[in-house]
Amino acid sequence: MNDHAPNSWEARAEEYSLYGFTDLPSVRDRGTVVVTHGEGPYIVDTNGTRYLDSNSGLWNMVAGFDHTGLIEAAKAQYDRFPGYHAFFGRMSDQTVALSERLIEVSPFARGKVFYTNSGSEANDTMVKMLWFLNRATGRPQARKILTRKNAYHGVTAISASMTGKPYNEVFGLPLDGFIHLTCPHYWREGRDGESEAQFTARMAAELDEVIAREGADTIAGFFAEPVMGAGGVIPPSGGYFQAIQPILKKHGIPLISDEVICGFGRTGEVWGCETYGFMPDAIISSKALTAGYFPMGAVILGPDLTDRLQEAIDTIEEFPHGFTASGHPVGCAVALKAIDVVLEEGLLDMVRAGAPRMQAGLAEIARHPNIGELRGIGYMWALEAVKDRDGKVPFDGSLSVSERIANTCTDHGLICRPLGQSVVLCPPFTLTDAQMDEMIAKLDASLKQVFAEVA
Ligand SMILES: *Cc1c(COP(=O)(O)O)cnc(C)c1O
Repeated sequence: MNDHAPNSWEARAEEYSLYGFTDLPSVRDRGTVVVTHGEGPYIVDTNGTRYLDSNSGLWNMVAGFDHTGLIEAAKAQYDRFPGYHAFFGRMSDQTVALSERLIEVSPFARGKVFYTNSGSEANDTMVKMLWFLNRATGRPQARKILTRKNAYHGVTAISASMTGKPYNEVFGLPLDGFIHLTCPHYWREGRDGESEAQFTARMAAELDEVIAREGADTIAGFFAEPVMGAGGVIPPSGGYFQAIQPILKKHGIPLISDEVICGFGRTGEVWGCETYGFMPDAIISSKALTAGYFPMGAVILGPDLTDRLQEAIDTIEEFPHGFTASGHPVGCAVALKAIDVVLEEGLLDMVRAGAPRMQAGLAEIARHPNIGELRGIGYMWALEAVKDRDGKVPFDGSLSVSERIANTCTDHGLICRPLGQSVVLCPPFTLTDAQMDEMIAKLDASLKQVFAEVA
């Protein structure tokens, strides 16, 4: 039991704050880490303890926690115009400038942008756009949404229904009409003797079968993260997008790339769809869009959906959707700066330069017999812990291996996130070589300690 004084930050947090996505036994044992500020990739708590945050907050703080340029951009915009909406034919100049810039850096030759406050809301908005479009064009039955098991698309009722994780059962979700296909994770889902190419072909055949079973005219869209993030950093099997995209095209089903994590450099290219060589019909963006310095999400529509949606909207002369803070001028000013910081001021180059060092360091750790798989790309990696490597057998749930790993890392001054029995590493792009080595060394020591305890 933790022994915080009743008036401590920790005790006050536990008294008045309802925790989300938090393992409560760990909090009861160890207390809450109450954070006051950050220094580069480190966070500092109320006791002055520093932790290297190898998860960039929640994947989003790609420029670290004290980037002067981003802070100045926000301050300057607060001085100019601290808040406005984007309804009724009015919007801020920063909103106009950001949409133009987003289309410029998107893979699309032209398109349009719609703003939200989060990634969940952006996915939710995209689904509503598809439902709206289909009803307006005489296809009201085309409402089903296809995603994959282990996908993470958010927490609103719609985006949680798209998320392919069992924990949503506690809410009675998914809603009807949200269909989860097999996760394209060859190491975990591949059958004995099945090659990766055969596995990919099986994933494509499954998609074909599901479309035939459900009826192509009942399906509104297929959403996919280029690399699944919160599902455990799962890159697609070889040729996956090349195999599924023609099937979707044949049936006229839009492919939406959820780039909330992959977008803006995480995979080593601007977009994950570029890394994996496919052209989506729309992109969902958030997280690194503002480098985490303002809550913001965006739906970026490619040319075809832009034209079809605009035409549908024109028939009723209004799209009845939007959030009070959609296209907030401070968020847009911060996003404009964040895009420059990542694309023009060297952060994307740092990912490209640092990725081989990160991969090599993790590959060394992955030689431990209790690591089943190392997977990832760019600056997003996962190590999956196993009791038995050859049989890919996970540790017994009662050992709480993932919580032990996270807690032991915290004791070593390293924040890293357990996901299932995997440990996720997705550091800020600004990491120096020395900080990278510190991250790897602390992870290595923590894993060895935990495996010695449970093996
Ligand atoms: C985080 C995430 C979301 C949800 O974004 P929120 O801002 O937390 O609502 C959606 N999709 C992906 C791929 C994500 O990683």
